[in-house]
Amino acid sequence: MTAHLEPFADELLTSWIARRAHGQRVRPEPNPRIARKRNGKWRTTDVLPEPEWLESWARQYKVPIEALNAVTIAHRFPTVPIDFLSWNTDPFQSVRESYRPRPRIEFGWCSKCLAQDYASASPAYFRQDWALATRGFCEKHDWPLVDYCGLCGSSQWTFFASTRGPLRLMCQDCWRPLERASPLNVTVAKIQHSWKHVIAFGRELQWAAEGKMPDQFRFNNTSAKQLLAEVRDICQLLFSEPNWLQGGHAEINRFDCPDLNPWHKPYHCIVNRIPHPLATARPVLRRALLAALAAILDPRNEVTQELFGHDRGPAINTFIVAADKRKLDAYLAMPGRWSPSFCQRIATSRARQRQDDMIMRGKDRVVRRLEKRIRAYQAIAAYSA
Ligand SMILES: [Zn+2]
Ligand SMILES: [Zn+2]
Repeated sequence: MTAHLEPFADELLTSWIARRAHGQRVRPEPNPRIARKRNGKWRTTDVLPEPEWLESWARQYKVPIEALNAVTIAHRFPTVPIDFLSWNTDPFQSVRESYRPRPRIEFGWCSKCLAQDYASASPAYFRQDWALATRGFCEKHDWPLVDYCGLCGSSQWTFFASTRGPLRLMCQDCWRPLERASPLNVTVAKIQHSWKHVIAFGRELQWAAEGKMPDQFRFNNTSAKQLLAEVRDICQLLFSEPNWLQGGHAEINRFDCPDLNPWHKPYHCIVNRIPHPLATARPVLRRALLAALAAILDPRNEVTQELFGHDRGPAINTFIVAADKRKLDAYLAMPGRWSPSFCQRIATSRARQRQDDMIMRGKDRVVRRLEKRIRAYQAIAAYSA
């Protein structure tokens, strides 16, 4: 049995099933098995498959069941909460909502990894890392993940085996190999310095999701649990009530960073009230969210400036202005939910803003008084003339 017939150590189970179904010339299941248990929890192929599904795949494709068990996300990332995985739709459903589409793991891909597969004559496959909600970039190549063909924009892919060369992933619409369908003609050297903050933050967040301590130099007295809570709550606040005065657009648009998506039109999100924005975001929106989170949670102002421009003030100020005050206060009032250092930074920023407001109001008052006096002088002058 060669390694190619068994899953690769970092391969998604759905990727392996699609690969093997292609090898045996059987039609792959369009939506590999998903079931909901009586307790409301979902069982999906990639995360936690039913033992009998594993048995049937092991029998069908003649591989040991242990090899399949080893590549489930529940086995490789046992502590990662399900809202820190990447889904096509909200992974939490109540019984009342059972008519909504069933959630399945959604993933983008790194064209450089696929190119490397092809160059080393190894079959193309989808990595588990690409299904983590903390990843906007490939960790190996520091390269943006994409979930569409750079040539035609289609998100439909298929495996293809030529007589020469290994199994490849192809765009189903324009039939271009996905390792070549990345929009590469961008001078990335100039913009990669802003990518590094998003990559570093995604890595920290992944550690926290795996229960490891986040970097205390950066997040100062923050536990992994607190960092995850801060990320969940900030995402909620950036996608809360539509602000109709601003055209109903989500607050995330205040954190626009064109460098994160140089080959795309500027991103503008008009969707509001998404239950788990980071879990259901496609790679483009995920990078925008991770950039906003990195800038808000990192006390160093250079992170904000390198991501959003050197004329920008601290991202935490933008966040406080954008966020719903009542909801923000409710989070702050929950004891121990957020780290003391983050709560302190919010309090300092609010105090500074109050001070600025007071100065502005004082300036306005002086200007109004001067204008009144000028008008009075003008009236006297007009009268005496
Ligand atoms: Zn890669
Ligand atoms: Zn295409």
